[in-house]
Amino acid sequence: MAKVIPEPHKWWQRRIPLVEEKRCKTFLHGLSGEYKDEGGLTANPYIGCAHRCCYCYATYEWVPEFYDKIVVKQNAPQVLEAQLRMWKGKYIEPVFLASATDSYQPQEGRSRITRKCVEVLQKYNVPYYIFTKSGTILRDLELHAAYKDKCMLFWSISTIDDSLKKIIEPNVTPTRSLLKVINKFSERGVQTAVNIIPIIPGLTDDRIKLDALIKESAEAGARYFTAGVLRLRGDIWSRMKMLLESIGRYDAARLMQAFYYSKPITEQGYYYAPKSYREEIIQFVETKVKEHGARFGIPISDSPDLDSPQCSDFVLHPKEKFEEASLLSFVQ
Ligand code: SF4
Repeated sequence: MAKVIPEPHKWWQRRIPLVEEKRCKTFLHGLSGEYKDEGGLTANPYIGCAHRCCYCYATYEWVPEFYDKIVVKQNAPQVLEAQLRMWKGKYIEPVFLASATDSYQPQEGRSRITRKCVEVLQKYNVPYYIFTKSGTILRDLELHAAYKDKCMLFWSISTIDDSLKKIIEPNVTPTRSLLKVINKFSERGVQTAVNIIPIIPGLTDDRIKLDALIKESAEAGARYFTAGVLRLRGDIWSRMKMLLESIGRYDAARLMQAFYYSKPITEQGYYYAPKSYREEIIQFVETKVKEHGARFGIPISDSPDLDSPQCSDFVLHPKEKFEEASLLSFVQ
């Protein structure tokens, strides 16, 4: 029987997602799952994400609806405000927007839920940090710039190669456009960082392109960098394998199969690339980041001394508190 090759891109180039509005009972949560030990707080304005990254592991297993239906937590700003008003703790951790979706995905352009939540966080003097792959955040430049000492913005960028990016993350803002956005925030004094993730063996790990990404990001004003190598789960691998074969990248599919499954390194249901590979590539990134005058790692906070629930003295990124991230913290 002839081998059935899936139509190129078919499974992730489906329709514009349905949008559903929902009311939530609570909004601010302690970080759970893999982030649990970090002990911070998170809030997700949306369920689902239209970016359609092929490696997405925001769900615990493959849920196609995650791409196809975006649930808008319509009353999130009001619930957040109620939670902050009733906050009983001695201090409050920075809030991570958002751990299980991209809070600046396309729907934010219409719903503005993230913006309204940020306004509430600012009203209560709560520090926050945002990871996004989107340029939509630019419309909130003034908002974040006015709060620059208590927020930090991260852009997760997998590659500078926009033709490849269009395949693996079809609805994500092109990298060169993101660099212009980073530049605008950096010029306004907002702390900006680039998270080079995921580095995909055989696909996005070309050293020349990685170096170019770091160089251009640093030139755009990104001061901090982090990085991580792709980890796989069974459902993620089957999606990625289908994708790679559909674009004729059998070489990358074979390499990844060998890397992740010939001598499996597993933890909590995920498969990891060989440690020597992870160490080598992260070391490469760290070296290049320093060569381009930026810092590898993220600033740390000093929140335990705070004595007010509003964190009025909180500085999310005091220079003197910066800790160089150890290589091991990025090599799981
Ligand atoms: S941006 Fe994040 S949450 Fe959205 S599809 Fe990509 S990996 Fe998943």
